[in-house]
Amino acid sequence: MSNEIRNKILIVEDDPGICTFLRAVLNADGYDTIIVNSGSSALDMIASHCPDCILLDLGLPDTDGSQIIESARKWTSTPIIVISARSLEQDKAEALDLGADDYITKPFGSIELLARIRTALRHRRTSLDNDEITLTGRYHVGDMEIDYRKRRVLLGGEVVHLTPNEFRIVALLGQHAGRVLTYKAILRQLWGPSASSDNKILRVHMASIRRKIEPNPSEPRYIFTEVGVGYRMADGED
Ligand code: CA
Repeated sequence: MSNEIRNKILIVEDDPGICTFLRAVLNADGYDTIIVNSGSSALDMIASHCPDCILLDLGLPDTDGSQIIESARKWTSTPIIVISARSLEQDKAEALDLGADDYITKPFGSIELLARIRTALRHRRTSLDNDEITLTGRYHVGDMEIDYRKRRVLLGGEVVHLTPNEFRIVALLGQHAGRVLTYKAILRQLWGPSASSDNKILRVHMASIRRKIEPNPSEPRYIFTEVGVGYRMADGED
């Protein structure tokens, strides 16, 4: 056994089957785990155990998980990954807007879960910046490269002709690669707090972006739609 410090994951979940599954997967991958079954003990545990990442179920017996996000975000930036049921798109978007870093839809597999946790921990270490961009001024995934200094996107080395707004959307998603950004978060980041909450303008831009950068726009490789929630850029490291 090396003396490497193991990352500690707090699991806030009331379903015993899911707890058992999560603990087995995380322990096998070298994480320490703490499990709590209710919202009331979750905040105490976050404060007393300083976990490196929190997996949070929204449907808890005593509280709604969104209240935990809201409270925790007043004093901690520990990554929070929401574990949610598929039918609750509105809840997922709300959780992300309250400050959750990501969400995983039930049922989910261990590979997806571990990839999301790695992404969350990486963002934590680089204080929410994409470290490839910080170091090189570029982000690349597959054949696509975003050049932040020259404000352009290349595909297989060829410049893609994006409009300024299209570039801003791609650049923002690249800065948060691997993480879902809600429609609301994107609109606010790009057009300010008074931006319209109408997603239609984003969908129009995205359709145009995909025609330009995706080999097959109906099966995106670089920018994924999280239905009813937002968009996620592929993470080059996973
Ligand atoms: Ca539950």
